[in-house]
Amino acid sequence: MPINCFWFRRDLRLHDNAGFYEALKSEHPVQPVFIFDRNILDELPTEDARITFLYDVIHELQEQLEEAGSDLLVYYGYPEQVWKEIAEKYELNAIYTNRDYEPYAKNRDKNIKAQLAEKDIEFHDFKDHVIFDNDEVTKSDGDPYVVFTPYSKVWKKKLDSKIDETKSGDEISYYLKPYPNADYFSNLHQTKATDIPTLKDMGFEQTELPIPERTLDMDTLESYGETRNFPWKAKGTSRLSIHYRFGTISIREKAKKALGNNETYLNELIWRDFYSNILNQYPKVVDYAFREQYDAIDWRNNKEEFQAWCDGKTGYPIVDAGMRQLNAIGYMHNRVRMITASFLTKHLLIDWRWGEAYFAQKLLDYDLASNNGGWQWAAGSGTDAAPYFRIFNPYSQREKFDKNYEYIKEWIPEFDTDDYPEPIVEHKMARERCLETYKKALK
Ligand code: FAD
Repeated sequence: MPINCFWFRRDLRLHDNAGFYEALKSEHPVQPVFIFDRNILDELPTEDARITFLYDVIHELQEQLEEAGSDLLVYYGYPEQVWKEIAEKYELNAIYTNRDYEPYAKNRDKNIKAQLAEKDIEFHDFKDHVIFDNDEVTKSDGDPYVVFTPYSKVWKKKLDSKIDETKSGDEISYYLKPYPNADYFSNLHQTKATDIPTLKDMGFEQTELPIPERTLDMDTLESYGETRNFPWKAKGTSRLSIHYRFGTISIREKAKKALGNNETYLNELIWRDFYSNILNQYPKVVDYAFREQYDAIDWRNNKEEFQAWCDGKTGYPIVDAGMRQLNAIGYMHNRVRMITASFLTKHLLIDWRWGEAYFAQKLLDYDLASNNGGWQWAAGSGTDAAPYFRIFNPYSQREKFDKNYEYIKEWIPEFDTDDYPEPIVEHKMARERCLETYKKALK
């Protein structure tokens, strides 16, 4: 009997999973598959907390699938070769998966689709990672929005444009309706559990960084508008970013919860859709400024200053606290991401791509679309950027958002002692130097 495969990527959960649901509803038994992709893994250091997280999640998924009488086939290799192997071993009818909008993934999928088509194997992909993709939210002439506010208005209108009912008869936007995957688990391919390659087999060490919970606390959600800008507040934001990144939670489920309880939180999820869409429509942003003329900026790119920034030793406490939080736990509060990114690009005049790459190495929630969007915003070169003459003042940002130095003291034990470094650059001079440099490039 031919089978269909479901390929898990950024959607690591069995519930409310669009592509998995479509596979389960198909005529053929469904064999779930995960590939530890060497094209990605080979670039990473041996200790990478994201890989430990991923590894644990894959084990969990396998256990859950075992309980349902099936298995998760786990491979370590290059996806094109792995699919060749699977297609030789099984009578394969089709692959089902959820769309990934990063240029590497789009290209990989295009090649695999072509490779499988030669053997009459179908490739079906679905929207799951975002609420709206491709041309679902566009201007009236069909062009993509490149400014957030009008995008978010049309996004919300679209959400309200099609109303459906939940199982219990409540009204719900059609676009947030959960997929009842478990109802179709009887169509899973019945197999025995197979081994998963160990972290060691793949060249990784286990790490011990704690991972935030998957739940969206009601107190956090309700007070989010008032608390989200204060990095010292323990539950000021949801800390769900790693789970949105790997799909260990459903974006539809959280958006539904936000919709009824806190519009500010919903807006942040719309930012996520927005940046995903920008990356999808304008893949050049990976290497170039969205606004071309910003590629003419004469960056100073001083290596020692860059190192001081990476190490949290710039002598600007709010910047240093942020960088040390990032280095210690693989997370940095959003307000501080904006401050540290602005400091690097404006005060030190270091190319945003350097900072972006450093964040990419360190962030547990690293996501190309949001990281690139955040960095280009800070550098002023992005879609919806603050004008370049608006330069964050690290002193007044500290005063406003960490008034009692709680965040700073948490991350800089030697703060206020002789061991803490002097500022590596003088604020006023750096501000003027930045304005001059940007003006020259943009004339
Ligand atoms: P919450 O405040 O609780 O927000 C809920 C969710 O909304 C987040 O988990 C995230 O999925 C989404 N979100 C919130 N703010 C943004 C935003 N500005 N843009 C896009 N999505 C958003 N976010 C990442 O997920 N990965 C990154 O690699 C990343 N890099 C960034 C780099 C810079 C320079 C900046 C300024 C921002 C970056 N962000 C990134 C966005 C934001 O900082 C994080 O999503 C947020 O801090 C995660 O913490 P949280 O889950 O507590 O967020």
